[in-house]
Amino acid sequence: MAVDSNLSSSLGPPACEKDAKALRFIEEMTRNADTVQENLLAEILRRNADTEYLRRFNLGGSTDRDTFKSKLPIITYEDLQPEIQRIADGDRSPILSGHPISEFLTSSGTSAGERKLMPTIKEELDRRQLLYSLLMPVMNLYVPGLDKGKGMYFLFVKSESKTPGGLPARPVLTSYYKSDQFRSRAYDPYNVYTSPNEAILCSDSFQSMYTQMLCGLLDRLSVLRVGAVFASGLLRAIRFLQLHWSRFANDIQSGFLDSEITDPSIRHCMSGILKPDHELAEFIRRECESENWERIITRIWPNTKYLDVIVTGAMAQYIPTLEYYSGGLPMACTMYASSECYFGLNLNPMSKPSEVSYTIMPNMAYFEFIPLGGSKAVELVDVKIGKEYELVVTTYAGLCRYRVGDILRVTGFHNSAPKFHFVRRKNVLLSIDSDKTDESELQKAVENGSSLLLKECGTRVAEYTSYADTSTIPGHYVLYWELLVRDGASRPSHETMTRCCLEMEESLNSVYRQCRVADNSVGPLEIRVVRNGTFEELMDYAISRGASINQYKVPRCVNFTPIVELLDSRVVSAHFSPALPHWTPETRRK
Ligand code: AMP
Repeated sequence: MAVDSNLSSSLGPPACEKDAKALRFIEEMTRNADTVQENLLAEILRRNADTEYLRRFNLGGSTDRDTFKSKLPIITYEDLQPEIQRIADGDRSPILSGHPISEFLTSSGTSAGERKLMPTIKEELDRRQLLYSLLMPVMNLYVPGLDKGKGMYFLFVKSESKTPGGLPARPVLTSYYKSDQFRSRAYDPYNVYTSPNEAILCSDSFQSMYTQMLCGLLDRLSVLRVGAVFASGLLRAIRFLQLHWSRFANDIQSGFLDSEITDPSIRHCMSGILKPDHELAEFIRRECESENWERIITRIWPNTKYLDVIVTGAMAQYIPTLEYYSGGLPMACTMYASSECYFGLNLNPMSKPSEVSYTIMPNMAYFEFIPLGGSKAVELVDVKIGKEYELVVTTYAGLCRYRVGDILRVTGFHNSAPKFHFVRRKNVLLSIDSDKTDESELQKAVENGSSLLLKECGTRVAEYTSYADTSTIPGHYVLYWELLVRDGASRPSHETMTRCCLEMEESLNSVYRQCRVADNSVGPLEIRVVRNGTFEELMDYAISRGASINQYKVPRCVNFTPIVELLDSRVVSAHFSPALPHWTPETRRK
């Protein structure tokens, strides 16, 4: 649709009136980034002036950035844990925020093995929705005609619990999908999904996935974009289709929903959607029964213009597999967000994954940036192109100068707002889905696993390293162990080794165990025993590539193909965890 030229923004000509408004908003915020940040911090400090936390630092009513930065420390989750625990236990006094804490968002980041609990307030939902509302206007600049079809998105709610004080504790997306903002959203031709709300909101992940995939198949010719939040989620959906295509074909052939789908609201809603369609059932059988699943996405959903999934950060490992299944469709990484705060969006969403940059929106929170290796945090507009920073946020919900743990590199500016490449999350060694395992967690798990080995057959783990194996769906952790078998002692049995695998899984953090148990998004942990001398070869290899002998340390995680190949060529036995570790939705009390 042609739009009045004075509605144009420097981003490009908007697709419609509503988009014009959104693009103008982006322009306004990014042009005035510094003023927006200054005013926003002042507003947060005014609103939260009487909180216990801010009073502690004697701001004396000041709301300016210099006073704030000189009086308040930069903190981590652990520093805030006592306050968070009190709120979780039911203390309703204004501890962190002048507005009541409405719920806790359970981050995939952990502290002492448990998910971090991020306090939030009701109005944050509107702020999140505002960021969502900017995504399609930007996308429409690059991909025309998205109002002529639908998005097939695999979206899920996850299990939630209540804190001792009665506040819900759940992932941010679960909170969003269950909110009125999402459920009662107004019709928008650019945002029509194949998945009915009933399926998205079903907490049984099998029934939810089954229904969403079935609806996507029924509506296959309308699908213009295919997505999930993270790449791992979309690959799980493809794997699900691989496992269950004949059931889908049967349902479509007969017009009757599989009897394993028992959720009454899903059954009710599907009764209006599912009709016998012999031709479609035959088509699905033909496409899926072949061994070759290359380009399966474009074969089944031929009008798909792009994949909408995050493939930056830890998700970059899935790019080749997604390219295989989609025949190289563009992958759009549209936004950058967390439980603490939604940060920003990609203003050039069709850029190659390696070139993706996110523009932090200055209206979302107050942002500071600690230069890597430095200590003095700088303002949003003062970061320098090419430099790396750790992100620090101050939110309306009461986090003050909080280290998010993400490392970002500045790639440029849109107006005066910087664009950032997501470099990595601090201290994350292994990640398959939303799990994040750091070096000390892995060390502890190896200690626990190997103490069992020592107890049962007197064998020690001489050296170890790890690898996130994503060659299968779901991916899984691989631990390479070189063993020190005592003279005369027997080598550990296969059964002992499998128990070591499970013991390690039991000691990994709760997000890992949830991925294993509830989400089925991480497969059983594997130990590959390598022959003696392998780790010395690893060192020789590193030294041949320029590492210093004196400073050489065994890498605790490997992903460089020649190293993985070297390790794999020395494997003498492989063992998988034989069962699921323990997990419950409840957070353990500290
Ligand atoms: P959570 O607190 O569990 O919601 O996880 C938020 C974290 O996920 C962020 O702090 C990032 O480390 C990561 N993340 C979110 N969005 C992206 C993105 N677009 N690219 C890379 N990593 C991301």
